[in-house]
Amino acid sequence: MVYFVGAGPGDVDLITVRGRKLLEKADVVIYTGSLVSREHLKFCKKKAVLIDSSGLTLEEILEVIKTYEGENKIIVRLHTGDPTIYGAIAEQMEGLQKMGIDYEVVPGVSSFTAAGAVLKKEFTVPGLSQTVILTRLAGKTPVPEREDLAQLSKIGASMAIFLSVKNIEDVVKKLRTGYREDTPVAVVYKATWEDQKIVLGTLKNICDRVREEGFESTAIILVGEFLTGTGKSRLYSKDFSHAFREAKN
Ligand code: SAH
Repeated sequence: MVYFVGAGPGDVDLITVRGRKLLEKADVVIYTGSLVSREHLKFCKKKAVLIDSSGLTLEEILEVIKTYEGENKIIVRLHTGDPTIYGAIAEQMEGLQKMGIDYEVVPGVSSFTAAGAVLKKEFTVPGLSQTVILTRLAGKTPVPEREDLAQLSKIGASMAIFLSVKNIEDVVKKLRTGYREDTPVAVVYKATWEDQKIVLGTLKNICDRVREEGFESTAIILVGEFLTGTGKSRLYSKDFSHAFREAKN
């Protein structure tokens, strides 16, 4: 059996209980060495086979899985954050399906929610935005034209931009299509890791600040009024009734 497990953003405590239990009983762990904390591997059995996938091709990963699956081993494919977001698991699952190998996906804490947590912010502040856009700039992987950042910026929603900090200038240029120059931006580098760094600014000055820090990867860009604005949900208001509480006059 193969388990795609979300390791969370960095801090080893941010894996799910199910994910940790699977790591403890796995015979083979194939982990994304470029992004997953090695600390997770300390929870594996001494005899577990640990394989860094960063130097492997898709075919090689599938081959490794096939070999150990043939020996009835428990295989964990450990991905950073949540595996369903920029995890490149679709192609792996397709490969397994073709080989008739059964698998399960265990979710994880994505870096975008981890970044929201370290900043102590809510993406969905009533009156400001009720929508979160997760996106990226095109890189080796293209982005469909209708989802171009300039296009998305016209919506004005809260945004989390992955895999793009290296080209922060392009990000800002595209975002300026829809957002005002004084729109708040936060860039969180290695959220929840010991060397985490946070850079705050606006679309006007964030490029300089990010350049000063020299972030090239493992950073997420958050954009929107939710970073500084205030709003209030009516959920806890006195005059608001819902299934669990009657309004008080
Ligand atoms: N599945 C992952 C994303 C993988 S793509 C998730 O759910 O978070 C890799 C990108 O995720 C990085 O380029 C960066 O933009 C972001 N990222 C991953 N871990 C991060 C962290 N700890 N802090 C900030 N950004 C992170």
